[in-house]
Amino acid sequence: MFRAAIARPPRDLTSGSVVEVAAGGEILGAGLWDASSPIAVRLHERADAKRGGRVAHLDEGSFSKRIGAALKRRDAMFGSKGDGPTTAFRLVHGEGDRVPGLVVDRYAHVAIVRTDGDAIADWLDRLVPLLAKMLGERGVSCVAVRTAGSGNETKVEDAWGEPMPERIEILEHGMKMEVDLARGQKTGAFLDQRENRRMMREAAKGKRVLNLFSYAGGFSIAAALGGATRVTSVDIASGAHATAQRSFRANGIDPGKHAFATADAFDWLEKTAAKGELFDLVISDPPSFAPSEKAVPRAIAAYQKLHRLCVAVLAPGGRFAAASCSSHVDMNAFVGTLDDAVLGRHDLVVQETFGPPADHPTLAAFPEGRYLKLAMLA
Ligand code: SAH
Repeated sequence: MFRAAIARPPRDLTSGSVVEVAAGGEILGAGLWDASSPIAVRLHERADAKRGGRVAHLDEGSFSKRIGAALKRRDAMFGSKGDGPTTAFRLVHGEGDRVPGLVVDRYAHVAIVRTDGDAIADWLDRLVPLLAKMLGERGVSCVAVRTAGSGNETKVEDAWGEPMPERIEILEHGMKMEVDLARGQKTGAFLDQRENRRMMREAAKGKRVLNLFSYAGGFSIAAALGGATRVTSVDIASGAHATAQRSFRANGIDPGKHAFATADAFDWLEKTAAKGELFDLVISDPPSFAPSEKAVPRAIAAYQKLHRLCVAVLAPGGRFAAASCSSHVDMNAFVGTLDDAVLGRHDLVVQETFGPPADHPTLAAFPEGRYLKLAMLA
């Protein structure tokens, strides 16, 4: 609920205080107050018509219930001990699990907690023991909290149990991946692309694969394990490929048989197209191009440019997997950037489209939650 929508904002209330929201004398729900964000209240409990419009208490007990429900959903997907073929996944996905502002990711025996906003951050001291108990039963022995530091820096602090290792090896559908917990993006890895990585593993056999914006090489390892003849990874960050190459080796793949380019993807594509080099499977997974609603037109133009360049290196009969994580660009707008006129080709069709995976649930009423999109063209 935006601050501007509140008729009588309480004064001198600190972030994290429990408030009830009412409209026309009717209580709508209970939430946490944020003294500084434009979103002044995030509702956690809603008035229940079956209980005469009453609102349940918002306390440790209600957090425990919500988090418990989120964990049970994961137990059903990955097993309850974290010892299955997938050991890294999202345990709690904020709003999507009805715990606004709280994200918890599991990397083998480590859980990384991230909070969004001061309100939920104020609850951390009460939430960590609760998480430790529920996750301890599931084989987690370390809980760390990740917070935004100055600028682009992030800070990770041990909160419970064993000290957090800087790097960890996790399994994703049996594939080994090294994750940099101390310095990696997000909470270490892009867990949301797991099912898409698996799909590329199945699509890569006998193919020349290009993985643009490759980061720690998730899609590249998947493609190589799937039997790609050669995988080319492109990322602008200098450290990205070293991590990827260690993961290649951990999976018994010789990185020397594959190519790694440290370059701007747009420049690299232009040069490669000019040389006439072609690929049978092109994967594009850039960072968000639209940090705000205002940036959408620019983001659309960037996707169009990128996609046109991608198909310029796509071999006849090849497949193109185009992904986007910009929450302000919805699926229809994104698929629009793959239109014939944009691509300058008339032979490709949109075969399938994919949204976020099951461990990144969303609320029906909050379409921005479905930020992850992938379109497969062939
Ligand atoms: N596909 C990855 C996640 C990609 S994250 C996975 O499955 O794990 C986006 C990556 O794009 C980051 O590693 C970042 O370094 C890289 N990047 C950002 N701008 C770039 C550019 N202009 N050219 C190439 N890489 C870029």
